Amino acid sequence: MPKINDYIPIVGDDTIEELKILGEKLKGKVVQHINSTSVGGGVAEILNRMVPLMSELGVDTRWDLLKGGEKFFNITKKFHNALHGISIEISDDEFNFFLQVENENAKAINFYGDVIFIHDPQPIGLITRKKDFDKKWIWRCHIDVSQPQENVWQFLKKFVEMYDIAVFSVPAFAKQLSIRQVLISPSIDPLSDKNKDLPEEVIDSVFEKYKIERNKPIITQISRYDFLKDPVGVIDAFKMVRKYVNCQLILAGNTATDDPEHDKVFTAAKERAADDPDIHLLIIERSHNDIEINALQRGSDIILQKSLREGFGLTVSEALWKKKPVIAGAVGGIPLQITHKYSGILTHTVEGTAYWLKQLLNSPEYAKQLGLNGHEHVKNNFLLTRHLREYFLMFLSLYHNTDIVRL
Ligand code: UDP
Repeated sequence: MPKINDYIPIVGDDTIEELKILGEKLKGKVVQHINSTSVGGGVAEILNRMVPLMSELGVDTRWDLLKGGEKFFNITKKFHNALHGISIEISDDEFNFFLQVENENAKAINFYGDVIFIHDPQPIGLITRKKDFDKKWIWRCHIDVSQPQENVWQFLKKFVEMYDIAVFSVPAFAKQLSIRQVLISPSIDPLSDKNKDLPEEVIDSVFEKYKIERNKPIITQISRYDFLKDPVGVIDAFKMVRKYVNCQLILAGNTATDDPEHDKVFTAAKERAADDPDIHLLIIERSHNDIEINALQRGSDIILQKSLREGFGLTVSEALWKKKPVIAGAVGGIPLQITHKYSGILTHTVEGTAYWLKQLLNSPEYAKQLGLNGHEHVKNNFLLTRHLREYFLMFLSLYHNTDIVRL
């Protein structure tokens, strides 16, 4: 497991020194993160690395999970889609069932942290315990809530406004709220198994394992099987390009335990792929996930992230860090990571994606430059150390009586 000093060669001495000073100032405080899954998806990805590093920096940081069954996660997935602006019917019974599960968890969870750090809508209702303890409460929203379905937002907003601070990933996601808002982008860990450098033999062995020959260009999208990641659109774009350029496609994903739509979406992608030998639909086993995703990204020529809606889109930073040319939907936090035609390509349609795939496959030098520019951008903006610094400053601001915090 990498230690904080291992990051010095990547981000420099000063950055790490500053983190140590900030950690020292927070000594004695306990930060308690709560979300709804420990595996799958961007939130778990970040917490897995953030928790041990914060603790190493002197801020006792722990992570608890909300408990919910299938019915609860079906409802919260509806919330997720509705917040992303997809029109969805949610019944009174479903809203009530959500509240019931929130109440059960609010009673069962031990709130031992000085700072209670709640992620996303699933555990948002735990805030009803705020009145019982003298704690600081943060709600961190990882979703694009810029154009939400109004009834769902109004339902959640009542909870949001009980927090001390709401954190959003991207300026465009900020809302009209009566509480303080802080904008903090997510990040990737350059030294995690997901992102660290890999020897060629490891990359080769992963492609061998999945029986994918590297004898023609490889286009890859890594995503949970979720309609909003548009795997079917990816397959359609690939089929358009393959008429002109001999290439192959990998769609690789697992599922998050709080995402019930996986099977349906995987089946839809499988039907669209229709046994095409150049389309590899992979489900990555959890036990090998990080190294295999890393190897698939590194062994690919172009990375796609053709999302229809997105929170931040960590997979984009992951691919850019690996100096890969990325073509991605211009949604959510993706335009923050990609400047069109400079550090990647932004698209809006299947046809646009197909057009740019063809362009990049035919112009490898241009594609390479996009990846190099993207790497610099991620290095300067989306590494874990920047994220830690901003969280530490935010925690400190909770204990200082000021409205203005410059991060
Ligand atoms: N991921 C993974 N294995 C998979 C699919 C996705 O490890 O089979 C990871 C991916 O590398 C990224 C995270 O899950 O780190 C997804 O985060 P992102 O912000 O792209 O999307 P989210 O799933 O949170 O909507």
